[in-house]
Amino acid sequence: MTNLVADQDAVRRYLCDDAPDARLMTVRLERTKDEMLDHQNMPLILRSLCEELVAAACILSRMFKFDGAMIIQIKGSGPVTMMVAECSSGGRIRSTAQWGDLTETATFRELLGTGYLAVTIDPKQGERYQGIVPLESNSIEGCINHYFEHSEQLDTRLWLSSGEESVGGLLIQRVPEKGGRPFLENSNWQTLATLADTITKKELSSEAGPLLVYKLFHELNPRGLDPWAIHFGCSCSRERSARAIRALGGQEVKQLFLERQSLQVDCHFCGQVYQYDHADLEWLLSDQPPGPDTLQ
Ligand SMILES: [Zn+2]
Repeated sequence: MTNLVADQDAVRRYLCDDAPDARLMTVRLERTKDEMLDHQNMPLILRSLCEELVAAACILSRMFKFDGAMIIQIKGSGPVTMMVAECSSGGRIRSTAQWGDLTETATFRELLGTGYLAVTIDPKQGERYQGIVPLESNSIEGCINHYFEHSEQLDTRLWLSSGEESVGGLLIQRVPEKGGRPFLENSNWQTLATLADTITKKELSSEAGPLLVYKLFHELNPRGLDPWAIHFGCSCSRERSARAIRALGGQEVKQLFLERQSLQVDCHFCGQVYQYDHADLEWLLSDQPPGPDTLQ
């Protein structure tokens, strides 16, 4: 372990010289978690959930390594009807949610009710892939692990924790030997998972990174690979936001402009406000084909 710096918004991967059947990843977000959510005035309890969902999206984006966006969305029947987190292959994150009246002491189940979690791989080239699991767990961590059980062929477990200052995550994945043969039953993977279960939520949220990995797994000689930096940003634009107006249909849009001088679309992800006035009407009513990015 050469790099012990832990205070950077990044995803990191590790290999253990003495546990070749496992791969480790950590994510830690500090500055970016505030940048992406400060303007959204979310109740604290929901904010923590969004932070964990983004941390999971960062890990999954790095794990699948493709050129495009990793999107994790939860749809629920409780006061929180929707949560979404996105991480691009360039390490750009954003998140938002829709919610009604809720109490800060509500449980995960009370907040979300029944619904599903969808993991979408949206590559710049090629087809979208989506995997869906019903909401049957009591945490974001539980939902993602449930998803892994259903869709990931390799044994994979994720731990997540959101704290006041930062959010952290740890992933352990069992990898096959070269040639695809699985390692023996009594593998180091199980040792790593057992050790990971001893982390406290506080440790994970504040220390996820090389120091924590070294502290937990030093007997297996973990080696950190280059960190992958994460930053907050939004892919919204005036053109994309106009789709929300176009979706209303021509008649409705004309009617709205008879009643007011301008229409406004707010981007919930970043807080950007787009205004459209009468001069934009012709363009708004024109039949423009939708662009490749449909997540707005
Ligand atoms: Zn935006």
